[in-house]
Amino acid sequence: MQSEYPKVSNFIRSIVEQDIKEGRVKKVITRFPPEPNGYLHIGHAKSICLNFGLAEEFGGHCNLRFDDTNPSKEEQEYVDSIIEDVRWLGFDWEDRLYYASDYFEQLYQWAEELIKKGKAYVCDLTPEEIKEYRGTLTEPGKESPYRNRTVEENLDLFRRMRAGEFPDGSKTLRAKIDMSSGNINMRDPVMYRIKHESHHRTGDKWCIYPMYDYAHGQSDSIEGVTHSICTMEYEDHRPLYDWYLDNLEIYHPRQYEFARLNLSHTVLSKRKLLTLVQQGFVNGWDDPRMPTIAGIRRRGYTPQSIRNFCERIGVGKKESLVDIALLEYCIREDLNKTAQRVMAVLEPLKVVIINYPEDKVEYLDAINNPEDPAAGTRQIPFSKEIYIEKDDFMEHPVKDFYRLAPGREVRLRYAYFIKCVDVKKDADGNITEIICTYDPATRGGDAPDKRKVKATLHWVSASHCFEAEVRLYDKLFTKEDPNDVEEGKDFTDYINPNSLKIIKNARLEPSLQTAKKGERFQFERLGYFCVDSVDSKEGCPVFNRTVTLKDEWAKIKKTLNV
Ligand code: ATP
Ligand code: MG
Repeated sequence: MQSEYPKVSNFIRSIVEQDIKEGRVKKVITRFPPEPNGYLHIGHAKSICLNFGLAEEFGGHCNLRFDDTNPSKEEQEYVDSIIEDVRWLGFDWEDRLYYASDYFEQLYQWAEELIKKGKAYVCDLTPEEIKEYRGTLTEPGKESPYRNRTVEENLDLFRRMRAGEFPDGSKTLRAKIDMSSGNINMRDPVMYRIKHESHHRTGDKWCIYPMYDYAHGQSDSIEGVTHSICTMEYEDHRPLYDWYLDNLEIYHPRQYEFARLNLSHTVLSKRKLLTLVQQGFVNGWDDPRMPTIAGIRRRGYTPQSIRNFCERIGVGKKESLVDIALLEYCIREDLNKTAQRVMAVLEPLKVVIINYPEDKVEYLDAINNPEDPAAGTRQIPFSKEIYIEKDDFMEHPVKDFYRLAPGREVRLRYAYFIKCVDVKKDADGNITEIICTYDPATRGGDAPDKRKVKATLHWVSASHCFEAEVRLYDKLFTKEDPNDVEEGKDFTDYINPNSLKIIKNARLEPSLQTAKKGERFQFERLGYFCVDSVDSKEGCPVFNRTVTLKDEWAKIKKTLNV
């Protein structure tokens, strides 16, 4: 599945293009390699679209591979969610669902091979000592006293590590590279550690587990990956991946790094997202405020809008903070074409039309989607009592307020012109009801005498509408970059206290009563909404606001002059 935008070239696409043109690569093979230790987020979507998109574009294929080397943090729930999310985004790995854990035996054999070549050794330093010996960016490291064990001793110890003879943390297998390397990753990195822990796939078969860095490059090699695409933070790990592949003398994929996506007003780190979930700042990984694919989906985003977003942000090497307004623009643009328009009143104010017959009901034609003539029309009931939005009325209108006010005439969408003739209040002076007259000659919303009104309001018939819960979401963080934490603060200090507003008794037009989970609508003048896939019940939909109609991106674009 591709975006709807024309392809903008980027450096990785150019490399692939060249490789094919010059015959270096016959068939492009990429992979998306998540670690199943959390739900996928919109940053991962960038990587997914890039990897699957390139393979599709150049007639190759892309694998889905779980880099499941750490049993402590990984769970089946995460595996399942990742599979669902990648599929939902519209990508297909066919029968190529792989796991690094499937390669554990091969990786183990390769480790023995490195030992036999004198390139790896068993080390008895504790994790703290290893850290201490590693040195710093400015100081070289110190060699481990166990570095010069014989091949025989190393083989024996490593086999006994596998056999479970030693406790956690007592030994590691390390690559013998260079403790004085300028690149800390090359200072005898750990290849295997002992963990007497069950793995979500291999169970208790193993008590030693390969480090991510030892497993990643070889997994790519096993799968014949041609272009190993990853984010910039792995650039410094590339020499180590190269070292393993070269010393094992196995097929050598090429690695290319690109800048990760950062999005304003949110965080894109699984660790931070996990904190939000565990500390109850949100209601789970799929909370519609979360930047996770599951959250975004529940919020009402379409896969197409995400793919379009990923194409628009492009692929480069320099990190930047993408404004969340661009993501919102992409969903608005998509839903504008497809979402049915309906009427819903979030803060109801009753209007009584005194010259409208008591028991009369008219069914008026409403256009389902002006952008899509094929969407047709529906009929909406009109009667003597209706609800309009509270803030569409002002008893003492301020300057620039053109909507309903005493003595003023406005249009009711698809219905009539009404004019406010009186206002009813309770004992405390709060407005309880607006009294209006209507002009029967304006049925459908136009006056035969061509007189104009300055506003068109949405409305619902009081006796036909139904009450529903509507959830209004806003940015999760008030700070543009919540990763940029001031001293003494925590990123959670920037959470927007108003990121969720629940309206219990919104009044919705009757057609919405049968709306199905996941269905998307435009509530006229209010925004795009979708039926919550978790809390809705048959005949009792709960609506999530996906996005308002206000295009902040247009404003930003103007100031950026792009
Ligand atoms: P996080 O930093 O959120 O914990 P991660 O890099 O540890 O993410 P992985 O499961 O290892 O998560 O990621 C799988 C792939 O997605 C990797 O190739 C990684 O480079 C890529 N990826 C992760 N975050 C982003 C991001 N923000 N933008 C683009 N690609 C990303
Ligand atoms: Mg990672």
